[in-house]
Amino acid sequence: MNFIETRGNGEGFAPKVPFSYAILHPSASYGGLYVPESLPKLDATFLEENRDVSYKRLARKILTHFGIDIEPEVIDEALALYDKFDDPENPVPVVKIEEDLFVNELYHGPTRAFKDMALQPFGHILSDLAKKRNEHYLILAATSGDTGPATLESFANKAQIRVACLYPEGGTSDVQRLQMVTEDAPNLKVIGIKGNFDDAQSALKNLLASDTFKAQLKKSHIALSAANSVNFGRIIFQIIYHVHSYLALLAQGEIEMGEKIYITVPSGNFGNALGAYYAKKMGVPIEKILITSNANNVLAQLINEGVYDIRGKKLILTNSPAMDILKSSNVERLLFDKFGPERTKEMMDALNSENRYTLTAEELALLQEDFAAIDSDDAYGMEIIRRYASKGYVMDPHTATCLKAYENLREKDLKMVICSTAEWTKFAPTMLMAIEGEAEKRSDLEALERISSKLGIPITPSVKALFEKEIVHKDVVEKEAIESKILQFIQS
Ligand SMILES: *Cc1c(COP(=O)(O)O)cnc(C)c1O
Repeated sequence: MNFIETRGNGEGFAPKVPFSYAILHPSASYGGLYVPESLPKLDATFLEENRDVSYKRLARKILTHFGIDIEPEVIDEALALYDKFDDPENPVPVVKIEEDLFVNELYHGPTRAFKDMALQPFGHILSDLAKKRNEHYLILAATSGDTGPATLESFANKAQIRVACLYPEGGTSDVQRLQMVTEDAPNLKVIGIKGNFDDAQSALKNLLASDTFKAQLKKSHIALSAANSVNFGRIIFQIIYHVHSYLALLAQGEIEMGEKIYITVPSGNFGNALGAYYAKKMGVPIEKILITSNANNVLAQLINEGVYDIRGKKLILTNSPAMDILKSSNVERLLFDKFGPERTKEMMDALNSENRYTLTAEELALLQEDFAAIDSDDAYGMEIIRRYASKGYVMDPHTATCLKAYENLREKDLKMVICSTAEWTKFAPTMLMAIEGEAEKRSDLEALERISSKLGIPITPSVKALFEKEIVHKDVVEKEAIESKILQFIQS
């Protein structure tokens, strides 16, 4: 299977490329993103045959259908990383919390966020490719919290890949920061930046534009790659767990083969939701994909009104920080799939030059065939966390936004699966405020302990252990100092 570009493969533009190329060099030739030329079909026979197989086997079969140019042994080694999850027999539990509501718990991996679902196997595949080609890559990441830990964990001690990760000092939870600064491997560099997430991102942009930096990369024979969700190597693993959630409901006897379900996705960069859309297109009986946003409601606005508009919008910091986003990069892949390359290029150009694009009424109707959306806010999320905790189910602030879709968006009486994207332990101070109704924000450690004793639930051992671990990455610098720090790192 080959990959094409969302803004066209016209004359003078890049040719179609295989999967391996698309994931090593994820920035397509002129600003677009790589997408598969076609999607494999998973028909009723496929679903029937696989209703009881293990997660790893299901994953292997779906990847085989894609026909990617990665050897089967390497795919198996990559998928074996799911054995590190809490229960290797069932790495992704699908849990019933209401008669017609189920939670796809995607956070049972090493960094307790759903980013592990893709980054764990992806890291192995990328590093194996680099090794076999005898090439060296640098991955730069700016993180507001979850991508950083999962990327570092994925590439720690991996051959021929280095990762430099910037985080805003004070802009992440203690748990997220400790997950990064205690990750000890010679191929990793973690730097705190004095400023916010925007400053971290703009420091990266400056770096990418710097001639000194580019010259040094060349001299060291290091190429740049990326591990964010513009990389299709992440998206492909995010299709699988949506198929799995359908099969889990079948296996639990909750639905009949062919019965449709809703899937609700708390969205930011739209990678998770795009995975659900591809699963639907491939044949999984999904009625609609329901998108939840927080107060940064660009996605809800696009799907409800057909307008993507960030003019004069400022990023609002919320209790669900992984969804605090204005430019949601994977929407481009959806636009391409619905409207083709010329129209996608037109809309992306408008977004760049005017900070806005508008769908026609017909285009909006096409989008609404597959999607509906709603935005939530912190107060609503806190109320949901409190209500469910008192009934014995603990969900994090991102997952809580999904209940807004459950309560408001269903047009048919169908069962719903919501995606749980993080464990509560990553956002303990917010959780405690929700559960105890306190106004004062405690430290992560104090909040973890209070919640644990109040609700009688354990603190995840790997999270608890973070507070005792040695801090190996101590740099916290002004953004002007980033370049020299990273230059030192790639020369070392
Ligand atoms: C990354 C993340 C999201 C957003 O996922 P996208 O694929 O970027 O839409 C939601 N919740 C959590 C906890 C995350 O880490």
